[in-house]
Amino acid sequence: MGQSYNVAVIGAGTAGLVTARELQREGHRVTVFEKANKVGGTWLYDSLVESDLLGLDPNREIVHSSLYKSLRTNLPRQVMGFLDYPFVKRESGDTRPFPGHEEVLRFLQDFARDFGLMELIRFGHEVIRVELVDEVSHEWVVESRTRETESRWESKEEVFEAVVICNGKNTEPKVAEFPGISLMPLHQLSVTTTASKYMNIVSLCCSCWDTWPGLQMHSHNYRTPEQFENKIVVLIGNGPSATDILREISPLAKQVHLAFRGSDIMLINLKNYDNAWPHSPIDCAHEDGKVVFQDGSIVEADVIIHCTGYKFHLPFLKSNGIVTVDDNRVGPLYKHIFPPSLAPWLSFVGLNYRVSFYLPFDQNVSWELNVTSEQEVAVSSPNAMSHPSEFCSNVSLIAKAFALVFRVMELQAIWVAKVLSGKVKLPTQEAMAASVEEFYEQMEKAGWPKYHTHSLQNDEGEYASWLAAQSDIRPPKSWEEITFFSFVKGIFGHGENFRDTWDVDKWIQEIESSD
Ligand code: FAD
Repeated sequence: MGQSYNVAVIGAGTAGLVTARELQREGHRVTVFEKANKVGGTWLYDSLVESDLLGLDPNREIVHSSLYKSLRTNLPRQVMGFLDYPFVKRESGDTRPFPGHEEVLRFLQDFARDFGLMELIRFGHEVIRVELVDEVSHEWVVESRTRETESRWESKEEVFEAVVICNGKNTEPKVAEFPGISLMPLHQLSVTTTASKYMNIVSLCCSCWDTWPGLQMHSHNYRTPEQFENKIVVLIGNGPSATDILREISPLAKQVHLAFRGSDIMLINLKNYDNAWPHSPIDCAHEDGKVVFQDGSIVEADVIIHCTGYKFHLPFLKSNGIVTVDDNRVGPLYKHIFPPSLAPWLSFVGLNYRVSFYLPFDQNVSWELNVTSEQEVAVSSPNAMSHPSEFCSNVSLIAKAFALVFRVMELQAIWVAKVLSGKVKLPTQEAMAASVEEFYEQMEKAGWPKYHTHSLQNDEGEYASWLAAQSDIRPPKSWEEITFFSFVKGIFGHGENFRDTWDVDKWIQEIESSD
């Protein structure tokens, strides 16, 4: 048995649960703070939406989950389990390979129950401050608050020797910025410096500010399609949320317009939707309701839905500037987990995600969109691959990935727990800081934007293998062989109904039995 510490975990979503399990396995004393009253985080569907549908008002009541009612997983369940706890089919449950969100929640609830984690969790406790009070004895104060009545909160301070932050990354919306729309609620415009900064930008490029009269929202606040009946809707983005929402609203909406960068490859065949059109990104929106795209096309829209992703948000972390969130980079962090000067007493699990198909986009390069077959839509430009399947076959040569966030979180959690118990050693503070610097330099050289620091682009497999090696874990062959890109290939091979047409079990068996 190694060292045992008193550790606080913030959040009881996937990352917090698997972290709590690993810490407990290593003999640490664990307290999990969870602001909700149940486990599950993102997977805890909430029909409520926020008062500010764009999610810009800092005073809004925050709804944590971004799930829409009809959401089914975009990864098969076979890769959403843990090393010794697979996400198996239950007879009474949703047995589809790409199940609905309720099934993922049940899986996480079962996981929490089966590993005795429920007793470790303080439900209804929102952490409002995490602060290092004694560097030598690495004492952290964790201040949490509980709601006593509708308007009264009770707060409490407790001391821990280590803190692991697992507060999620899909709650604080990131919105697209372009002239003619508001970037924050109007009542704040005259008082905040950020607003005046944006006002300058806006007035430079377009003499309008929040003059576009339609409804704007972020996909974070999308739940069901009814409100879009007969509406002309512009969706910004083309990740899973944008394409799922397009599929769901197009039977009801009058028109759906998808605005996205030319460097992105689409996961949907718009040919199947006679009221949906692709566009380049939005250039400007006007007070007469017109939305102008960079390619010159114009639509008069009723609604804009920003399916543009999320920002890291750590309002409770007081680290004297040691750890900051700068342009969506949480840093400096060694291997996305440990701030070198605070390691191993502060760590993060679950920051990573993937950006599918991101390729550096040169605004000056023209691009075109071709429908190339019944199954696929290809975006071509000199700096984007010309065809999804070509892209996939090229890239699968590079990637040997475990892919997939649940697995990466588990490997991160195991490493954190073992580092804390002293079974696995970290490099020196200087060596970790140098490694972070080197990583940032590599990103810069590759033209990789800062805000994608925690995206595991082509190095997901390498990263996961590295983590596994640190803790001396040898995952099963299918973990190594199943790559993110092989998924993408599978998805394209089965068309956009891949969730129902792809025999994933057979595919995995073939991988397991191959040489
Ligand atoms: P979360 O699940 O967000 O959990 C964070 C927890 O921290 C929450 O319970 C929250 O209440 C709590 N918390 C936050 N702040 C505080 C605080 N201050 N004090 C106390 N508690 C706090 N992944 C897949 O693998 N497959 C999919 O198909 C898939 N589909 C997705 C679809 C959508 C629309 C979205 C948004 C995400 C999807 N994901 C999917 C990614 C998903 O985010 C991860 O699977 C995973 O749920 C993230 O887990 P997490 O623990 O990091 O964060």
